[in-house]
Amino acid sequence: MSSGAPQLPPCPLCGDELRFEVLDDEKFLVAWSCLACGLIRTTEPA
Ligand SMILES: [Zn+2]
Repeated sequence: MSSGAPQLPPCPLCGDELRFEVLDDEKFLVAWSCLACGLIRTTEPA
């Protein structure tokens, strides 16, 4: 078991691994992208 690395949720479409990218550090805007099916989601916590 590895510790320290944050656990990313799997892709909701294909269940593959997601990539996490910080788009805006100040706004906490991040993008989740799936290399397998091309899904891209952005989250912007209020
Ligand atoms: Zn996917």
